[in-house]
Amino acid sequence: MFGRASSVIGIDLGTCNTIIFVTGKGIVVNEPSVVAVEKGTNRVMAVGTDAKRMLFKTPGSIHAIRPMQGGVIADLESTERMLRYFFSKALPRYQLIKPRMVIGIPSSITEVERRAVEECAYKAGAREVVVIPESLAAAIGADIPINEPAGHMICDIGGGTSEISVISLGDMVVTNAIRTAGDDFDDAIIKYVRSELDLIIGGGVAERLKIEIGNASPDKNIEQVEIKGTHAADGLPRRMEIDSEQIREALAGPVNKILDEIKSILGKTPPELAADIVERGIVMSGGGSLLKGLPKLISTETKVPVILAPSPMDCVALGCGKYFDRARGFESTGDAYGNLNE
Ligand code: ADP
Ligand code: MG
Repeated sequence: MFGRASSVIGIDLGTCNTIIFVTGKGIVVNEPSVVAVEKGTNRVMAVGTDAKRMLFKTPGSIHAIRPMQGGVIADLESTERMLRYFFSKALPRYQLIKPRMVIGIPSSITEVERRAVEECAYKAGAREVVVIPESLAAAIGADIPINEPAGHMICDIGGGTSEISVISLGDMVVTNAIRTAGDDFDDAIIKYVRSELDLIIGGGVAERLKIEIGNASPDKNIEQVEIKGTHAADGLPRRMEIDSEQIREALAGPVNKILDEIKSILGKTPPELAADIVERGIVMSGGGSLLKGLPKLISTETKVPVILAPSPMDCVALGCGKYFDRARGFESTGDAYGNLNE
């Protein structure tokens, strides 16, 4: 009776984006993990997309924060407020019918950090909270048959962390998370532009450059765009040109770190499972995997096929939402865990 009235929601509480999947509805929230707060009164001015627009442009009186850092909660109160806002968007009646939540968390998280996620979700209105490793969620969301006795590699590149895991029989066999991901691509572009062009640019400009003309593999088509920033020498606003080859050079550092980690995980994978991976390929998810040419580079360097998951940025939320249907130990139990549909 309890189960019938409640719904399961899958949550990807990411460093960059929070994505919420509701059983029977699909993805209902997909917004930046940003909260804008008025200093002094501590009033929430905006959350999500509206707050991100303020991120690098706030006046002294407004403070825009990213409450998640490196995959973990850096600011409990803001995370709770953000979740409350997203829950009210995802499920307008969530306070009446408290949902059961499955949340994906990095596998490298500590016990204290895990409890903070649970506490936050309860405070924001969950009836029951289950936290699961992000890799497992991403694999389920990418439609990988995780319960087979076969090796599957999933590589999720987010904003703050990249998590690489080999999964077999519903669990992780080898896994590691590194703090090099999409945001480090932006930082690398900022540093490059500063040292090569003497131009100071912000995080927003760097991210746009990465998305528009960023590339991890050499490309015959060299694209050029105009960038605006502050000249380091005279402090005046300036326009300059930059091309995709320069961005590729800028990104080489963090891209190679991720590549080395993938190679290292492959090296630690038991041979039988490695044989499966060579056949099935490495599956990539997360926003960072959308960097043009990254799957190609990884495939060339590892000599293993690389497949980009369908809707890479939604995989973790999707996998969380489908966890009870797909995870080992839950497949045949159905009603024991309540009616999963609203
Ligand atoms: P998280 O799980 O940490 O919230 P996401 O999986 O949502 O991260 O990915 C966010 C990262 O993906 C950001 O660094 C963002 O700049 C990057 N990103 C999003 N789209 C693209 C794209 N088309 N090309 C390259 N990077 C992208
Ligand atoms: Mg993520």
